[in-house]
Amino acid sequence: MTLTTRFAPSPTGPLHLGHAYSALLAYDLAQAAGGTFLLRIEDIDLSRARPHWEAQIYEDLAWLGIDWPEPVMRQSDRMESYRTALDDLWARGLLYACACNRRDIAAATSAPQEGAEPVYGPDGIIYPGTCREAGHPRSAGALRLNMAKALKKLDIAPLSFVESGCGPNHETGQITTSLDQLIATVGDVVLARRDMGTSYHLSVVLDDAAQGVTLVPRGADLFEATYIHVVLQGLLDLPKPIYHHHRLIRDDDGKRLAKRDDARAIALYRENGATPEDIRTMVGL
Ligand code: GLU
Repeated sequence: MTLTTRFAPSPTGPLHLGHAYSALLAYDLAQAAGGTFLLRIEDIDLSRARPHWEAQIYEDLAWLGIDWPEPVMRQSDRMESYRTALDDLWARGLLYACACNRRDIAAATSAPQEGAEPVYGPDGIIYPGTCREAGHPRSAGALRLNMAKALKKLDIAPLSFVESGCGPNHETGQITTSLDQLIATVGDVVLARRDMGTSYHLSVVLDDAAQGVTLVPRGADLFEATYIHVVLQGLLDLPKPIYHHHRLIRDDDGKRLAKRDDARAIALYRENGATPEDIRTMVGL
């Protein structure tokens, strides 16, 4: 099997050093194995995605010395596939419509026991299940995965994936989690946001499979989300790639870089005379 890696940025701001690290690592891993590096534009959030950021991504990556096969997959062209997967999960009774807003969820998680802290998972507060049995019509709101039902259907325990990089707590190799742990620490995640008709989790899993990605290099901040991805791969009968989480590039104060950190934007380094080699040195490659 040939190795296929990918870099999947969202065109919602300038690429910074953290993105450069991720992209170069994915590219180098593919090159070293005689494999393929793919680029995918994750533009499902149409309220934030902008064509000029997408153009800048192509420019920055080419400047870094990265090339990729055309055409580039763009998530905004893939809504039909996401919809088909949701139809399938809905028909199997694994989804429910959730009409809660953030405030409802915060209220439901803090009310019962005074002082009890809400539990946070990869997507924020673990959903308390308010709408799980409400029987709302599909159009009533976001679509959530009924995690307990999904895991029962999957009938794989423990759930596992192979990590060839390293999670935030140095997790590597065969990574496993118990189903109870998953229900408690991930819960009923949203698979289709009301405003998007899909979600990062659903789209990323379907797209990695559609593109034949065999190795997923990405930041360690997405390590926990991988459990959700593995559940979805099982439910949708998709191949499971190997994951390669990498350390996050931090600013001088130790904070991880975000899109708003324009000071670390590749384009700015380039304007100020840095070479692609300088960028490689800065990120430790
Ligand atoms: N689109 C995501 C981002 O820009 C990356 C998703 C992934 O690599 O799985 O952060």
